[in-house]
Amino acid sequence: MSDIERTVIIGSGPAGWSAAIYAARANLKPLLFEGTTKPEMIPLGQLAFTTEVENYAGFPAGNIRAFVESAVDSDRHYNLPPVPKGHEKDGQPHYAVQGVELMELMKQQALNFGTRVVGDDIVDVDFSGDVHTIIPASGEPVKARTVIIATGARANYLGLESEEKYKNKGVSACAVCDGALPMYRRQPLAVIGGGDTAVEEASYLANLDGADKIYLVHRRDELRASKVMADRAKSHPNIEILWNSVVEEVLGDEERVTGLKLSSTIDDSTTELDVKGMFVAIGHTPNTGFLAGKLDMNSSGYIQWTKPFRTETSVQGVFAAGDVADDYYRQAITSAGTGCMAALDSERYLAEAGL
Ligand SMILES: Cc1cc2nc3c(=O)[nH]c(=O)nc-3n(C[C@H](O)[C@H](O)[C@H](O)COP(=O)(O)OP(=O)(O)OC[C@H]3O[C@@H](n4cnc5c(N)ncnc54)[C@H](O)[C@@H]3O)c2cc1C
Repeated sequence: MSDIERTVIIGSGPAGWSAAIYAARANLKPLLFEGTTKPEMIPLGQLAFTTEVENYAGFPAGNIRAFVESAVDSDRHYNLPPVPKGHEKDGQPHYAVQGVELMELMKQQALNFGTRVVGDDIVDVDFSGDVHTIIPASGEPVKARTVIIATGARANYLGLESEEKYKNKGVSACAVCDGALPMYRRQPLAVIGGGDTAVEEASYLANLDGADKIYLVHRRDELRASKVMADRAKSHPNIEILWNSVVEEVLGDEERVTGLKLSSTIDDSTTELDVKGMFVAIGHTPNTGFLAGKLDMNSSGYIQWTKPFRTETSVQGVFAAGDVADDYYRQAITSAGTGCMAALDSERYLAEAGL
């Protein structure tokens, strides 16, 4: 490690690795802290929690060979991988990049350009001077001219054992990410929650081609979502709102979700709901606990970008990228995009300061 690093990156999701790729190529010699403490800080970020990723540009799902043959000239077909054996859907070759695989590729790309990686959590920072200090859980404090915070946000779950058991087998926290996967397509599904996100997720699922019934399960007798959103859900022909209901248990056949056991919040009754998937939409928690009081955040703890279309924060030389500052899009590709922006913003900051 140098006496003073030029760029330290905290976080190892798409935002962190993209920032590292750009920073390393710009010769900033980035040092990246991965985060190790589960469940919040799984190395490789949130995509490490999921299986197939179908919507990251450049990584098509399906019969990849046929796809690439249709997309690039024939003189480049010689290096096309066939769909790996055993990967089939409806008798056709089918493959989609796995979340962990996509992240390993990003990590390797960052390593190839010289990113140095430390498997440690950052537990504190000192942003009071011109040079910033980053304090890892174990090991020496690190000094840096610029810091890119890319620590993500974790989805909140209900906390049921059965929910944990069926994650990736019918339980998800992201309809935009997973709703179009074959396991959920044209199936009755439940969305849990009553805020704008829950209504958006329910609407997204209900508008998918051939959508079956979407149940919006809410513990109160009115939605917290804005009136426009709430009216949209109430009037959608495919959405049925189940009021005053909470999920007691996720039911399944070991392989996947087959239903939900719901209990009423107004009496002792319970019901079983036949659904093939449950989307939990009860909010996210940004991984910013270690930054409390160190820079400006909104009331939910997300870091605030201080200029439109830039990744600057309220502290000079400190930039934020990905879900930790974005409670709106929350996608791998948008996180990677702002990771790239943060590296470019860092580089320009250092150049302007003559550092
Ligand atoms: C189950 C699931 C499926 C998803 N599927 C898709 C999909 O198909 N397509 C899609 O586009 N998006 C999907 N998403 C959303 C996507 O994963 C996120 O938008 C994206 O990963 C955010 O990237 P990020 O780099 O901002 O943060 P993250 O991916 O959350 O990575 C941040 C990482 O930083 C590290 N970290 C945190 N705190 C510290 C600390 N104090 N010190 C050091 N390191 C720290 C941790 O390792 C953490 O995991 C899915 C999300 C989930 C939960």
